[in-house]
Amino acid sequence: MSRKKKETSCAFCTRPGSDDLQMIESPTGVSICKDCVGICSRLMNPDDGPKIPATGAVGVRAGVPGGATGKVPQVNLMPPEKIKKHLDDYVVGQERVKRILSVAVYNHFKRVVNNLGGNPSGIEMEKSNVLLIGPTGCGKTLLARMLARILDVPFCICDATTLTEAGYVGEDVENIILRLLQAADFNVERAQYGIIYVDEIDKVAKKGENVSITRDVSGEGVQQALLKIVEGTVCNVPPKGGRKHPNQEFIQVDTTNILFICSGAFVGLDEKIRKRLGRRSIGFAGTDEGLMKDAETEAVLKLCETEDLIKFGMIPEFLGRLPVHAVLDKLTEEDMLQILTSIKNSLVGQYEELMRLEGVKLVFDDGGMRALARQAIAKKTGARGLRAILENLMLDIMYEIPGRTDVAEVIITADCVEKGERPTLTLKKGKTVKS
Ligand code: ADP
Repeated sequence: MSRKKKETSCAFCTRPGSDDLQMIESPTGVSICKDCVGICSRLMNPDDGPKIPATGAVGVRAGVPGGATGKVPQVNLMPPEKIKKHLDDYVVGQERVKRILSVAVYNHFKRVVNNLGGNPSGIEMEKSNVLLIGPTGCGKTLLARMLARILDVPFCICDATTLTEAGYVGEDVENIILRLLQAADFNVERAQYGIIYVDEIDKVAKKGENVSITRDVSGEGVQQALLKIVEGTVCNVPPKGGRKHPNQEFIQVDTTNILFICSGAFVGLDEKIRKRLGRRSIGFAGTDEGLMKDAETEAVLKLCETEDLIKFGMIPEFLGRLPVHAVLDKLTEEDMLQILTSIKNSLVGQYEELMRLEGVKLVFDDGGMRALARQAIAKKTGARGLRAILENLMLDIMYEIPGRTDVAEVIITADCVEKGERPTLTLKKGKTVKS
C-alpha cells in the first residue's frame, strides 16, 4: 500500500485526491481517501471515543427534537452573545458580521425547536440561511467553520463552481449533502442539523441580466438546483457519491433544518450599487481617489440590496432563500497584527511554540511584525498570505535550529522580512550573531 496525493479518486466517496484529501492506494490500484479511512475505522471500532472530536465549545447543550424519528440530535446552543464571544477568540475584526451570524444561527436553531415542537404559536419562522460578501482571505470560511465548531454540528465546505444542475457534466448538488453526511459519520440525524458552506457562490451568477433562451449551465441552472436543497427538500443521496443511477440505493436526507452559508467576493457588485444610487462616489468626494478606493468600495458594498445582487446575476428565488446578508471588511494592518499574535492558535504563537520545544525563544520585534502585516496586505490575498510569508521566512531557522544547542533566542526584524536579512541569534553565552 502506498500514500498517494493526486490523480486518483476514492473508491468509496468518489472524490478526487488533492493536497487536502490524501489517498491510500492498494496494490490492486484501488484508492481510499483519508476521510473514508476515518469513517471505516470508527465503524469497525464504535467504542473508540466520541464520533465528532471534542471542540472546546462550552455552554448549555440543548436537545433539539429530531424530526420524524423523534430522536434528539444534540446542538451546543447558547445565546448569541456567547456565540460571538467564542467567535472573538478565533476571528479578528468583522464585528458586525459576527453579531449577524451569532443571531442568525441562534434563531435558526430556535426555529428548528419551535417547528418540531409543533409550532404552538402558529407563526412560521423563516430559515436564516446566510449570504456572506467579502474579499478573499478576510475570514468568511473561518467564521462558518468556527460557528459549526462552537455549536458542535457537522460542517462541510463545497465550491459552487464544481456544481452543475442534474444531467450535466460535473458534480450533482446532492453530493454536497453527501459531504455533510461524511462529516457526520453517516449519522443522518446529525447531518440534518449541520451547516453547509457554499463558497464562490458569485461564480454561478447568470452571465447577463436577461434570461437567455439557451440554458445557462454554469450559472442559473446551478442556482436553481441549489435552491431546492437550500429551501428544504428530501434529498436522495447516493452513498458512494458520483452520478445517480436507477439501481442504486439512496440515503434520504431532509435538508429543511440544514443551515446554508453561501459566500463570495462579488467583484463588481459595487458598480451595480453605484449605478442604482446614481453616483460614482459615496461620501468620499474630494479625497484622493486612488487612496480611498478600497475604503470607498467597502462602504458602497455595505449599501447592497437584493436588487443589486439580482443585477449581479443571482436569481431572485435563490436570494429569497438567503435572507441574512453580511458584508465583511477588508483586513487592515492592525487586523493582520492581531491575527499574527492575539487570537487562539495565532500564527506567530505556533512558531513560538515550535521554537520553545527546541529550547529557543522566538522574538519578532515590532518592526518585524508590522513588516509581515504590510507584506500580507500587499499580496491582496487577505490573511491567507500571512502563512505563506511566515513559512518562507522561518524555513532557514526551522532548518538550522534543531541541530544547534548554543542558541537562546532568535530575533526577527523588519529587515529580515523586507530585505531577506538573516535573523539575529542571541547565544546562550550571551554573544549576538547573525544566523
Ligand atoms: P475567505 O474569506 O476567503 O473564506 P478564510 O476564512 O478561508 O478566507 O481565511 C483564510 C485564512 O486566513 C484562515 O484560515 C485564517 O487563518 C486567516 N484569517 C482570515 N481572516 C481572518 C480573521 N478575520 N481573523 C483571523 N484569521 C483570519
